[in-house]
Amino acid sequence: PERPDLEALQYADVAALLPVPGAESDKYRRGVVGVAAGSERYPGAAVLAVAGALRAGAGAVRYSGPGADAVIARFPEALVHPGPPSRAGRVQAWVAGPGLGDSSASATAVADVLATDVPVLVDADGLRLMDAGAVRARTAPTVLTPHAGEAAALLGVEREEVEAGRLAAVRELAARYRATVLLKGSTTLVAADGDAPVRVNPTGTSWLATAGSGDVLSGLTGSLLAAGLAPRDAASVGAYLHGLAARGASDGAPVAAQDVADAIPAAWRDVR
Ligand code: AMP
Ligand code: MG
Repeated sequence: PERPDLEALQYADVAALLPVPGAESDKYRRGVVGVAAGSERYPGAAVLAVAGALRAGAGAVRYSGPGADAVIARFPEALVHPGPPSRAGRVQAWVAGPGLGDSSASATAVADVLATDVPVLVDADGLRLMDAGAVRARTAPTVLTPHAGEAAALLGVEREEVEAGRLAAVRELAARYRATVLLKGSTTLVAADGDAPVRVNPTGTSWLATAGSGDVLSGLTGSLLAAGLAPRDAASVGAYLHGLAARGASDGAPVAAQDVADAIPAAWRDVR
């Protein structure tokens, strides 16, 4: 039979992929996530990305950026580092972009992160700030997590064109950037560079269409990358848990992004 174009993860697939710490594990082996996010204008994005990472089992989170006070006030667990990401110490995966704004310091932070040899997830403002050549030249995995508007900007087309051809758009981005691409929206798609089937996430809910929920997904997925999941698995398990967490927190009523982050452990328990 021909290889299908699309596939969806089932509960059991996700359960088998969840990274569970073994007896020999320590916080470094579980995965240290670096978060380069937030700005004076958007300090909350940093907090939400850190929340997603911590609730998804990161051994530790290193935050680099101007939002350290806000991060620490909410998460004393986080390690905060002033200065550029290259000074933050060793991490197993970076998340770059949520709420970075467009300062030159933010552009430097994204370039710094892309120059590392560990997996990098780029979201939100990071998608505008990143240099396409630097992304393509990476040897470690890159995961891009645009919504339709961000995907359109990367492709140089109108948003409507992406909405009308989401499958083609996500594939084109993966090939162009030699990256794994998670295209957010009412049906979230994950494409890898190559001919593996595109994964459709079955767990979304339109209650997720709320400010900051994408920032939580970034941290959550970054945590799975740091734990060692392959980029395609990290992105699709990330979307799956994010949707389940939102459904759990919502139960048919409004949710705020923080509620989604707080519901990640319960979603994990449901899948396990
Ligand atoms: P962002 O656009 O970065 O704020 O991220 C929004 C999050 O909400 C992503 O995880 C989207 O997939 C999700 N989302 C947005 N709109 C919908 C929708 N109509 N149905 C399901 N999920 C959605
Ligand atoms: Mg976003």
